Amino acid sequence: MKGAIAVINAGSSSIKFAVFDEQATALRRMFAGSIRDLGGASPRFIVKNGAGDVLESRQWEEGSKLGYEDAIALLLETLPRHLNGQRLGAVGHRVVHGGEHYTAPVRVDAGVLSTLETLIPLAPLHQPHNLALIRTLLSVEPDLPQVACFDTAFHHTQSPLERAFALPKHITERGVRRYGFHGLSYEYIASVMTQRDPALTGRVVVLHLGNGASMCAIEDGKSVSNTMGFTALDGLPMGTRCGALDPGVVLYLMSELQMDLGQVEVLLYHQSGLLGVSGISSDMRTLEDSDSPNAKMAIDLFVHAIKHQLGALAATLGGLDGIVFTAGIGENSSLVRERVCRDAAWLGVELDDSANAAGEAGRISTAASAVSAWIIPTDEEVVIAEHTRRIIDGN
Ligand code: ADP
Repeated sequence: MKGAIAVINAGSSSIKFAVFDEQATALRRMFAGSIRDLGGASPRFIVKNGAGDVLESRQWEEGSKLGYEDAIALLLETLPRHLNGQRLGAVGHRVVHGGEHYTAPVRVDAGVLSTLETLIPLAPLHQPHNLALIRTLLSVEPDLPQVACFDTAFHHTQSPLERAFALPKHITERGVRRYGFHGLSYEYIASVMTQRDPALTGRVVVLHLGNGASMCAIEDGKSVSNTMGFTALDGLPMGTRCGALDPGVVLYLMSELQMDLGQVEVLLYHQSGLLGVSGISSDMRTLEDSDSPNAKMAIDLFVHAIKHQLGALAATLGGLDGIVFTAGIGENSSLVRERVCRDAAWLGVELDDSANAAGEAGRISTAASAVSAWIIPTDEEVVIAEHTRRIIDGN
């Protein structure tokens, strides 16, 4: 691979990036950063080196809008400043939905991009932003190779039964089935977890608990089942998304409350979950610090849904050897981990309270625990960088 690899994760209101170069054969994170609150009231920008020291930062004045085009221009002008004379060799993107067609990372050209654009209705929160950035880069830097890495791809090993909905064939034939998301995170965890404990080659449930939250049953390093389905709305309640919901609720909202499609979409994607239940915030830290009964209810509902899903995933696996916590809440909330593990005592999880309170990456269950519990920080960016290098090198 000639040159550095930039990894970009473009969301609705933020663009996160990380740049890697090759040291011997390993990839090294040179720097990383983010542009946040795009289109919001106080946009900000930060770049840190691999050790976490701030290289540059900027905060715009209250009320000054920074749009998507401005952010891309800022990104393109920033990256070369920190490349230490190296050239940018390729860009790897996180793309949420690969649909039925893309079960592995792919180099993007105009044709691939058009196919991916047809999947926008399946991931309206993420896909348009992921693709807008690729399209702009294709037009301003047509010779810069770009690779799309999909959140759905890791789940392609799931059985047809696991992916099916009980709907008529003329509907399911249109691609209406379970896909699963957060696959880049699960792929990373699956790639490192057996280094922590050989038992984690067995039957493991990984809990990716961030703003978006899901759980994945993994056996022998492969995805067997997960809590997200056709879209990233299913499964656990999330920061602002509702999680699993009786589809009859949607019919009621439309028929009785006369909500139109757009209003239902905004409700289920942006106004539900922790935010909707608490009426306070989508942020777990804020809810943990609050003494409002509604904040407590939101956390209770989150933990309760995890209990349900853990039972279901353990049943699918036919038993359990380990559980792994990852992402913002999973890595940082000792309260949520403690409650989840207490609920999982019947499965054989025995929490080491002091290890859990310390919150360091590693084992948080007692030595006697039949099912081990772990904190493993996720790193989707390094997975994307590795895939990008492999595709560009033609391996
Ligand atoms: P994203 O899906 O946007 O990448 P993250 O993985 O960063 O999200 O997770 C964000 C969530 O993690 C927020 O709900 C945040 O409150 C929560 N979080 C981060 N640090 C802590 C902490 N110390 N205690 C509890 N929750 C935390």
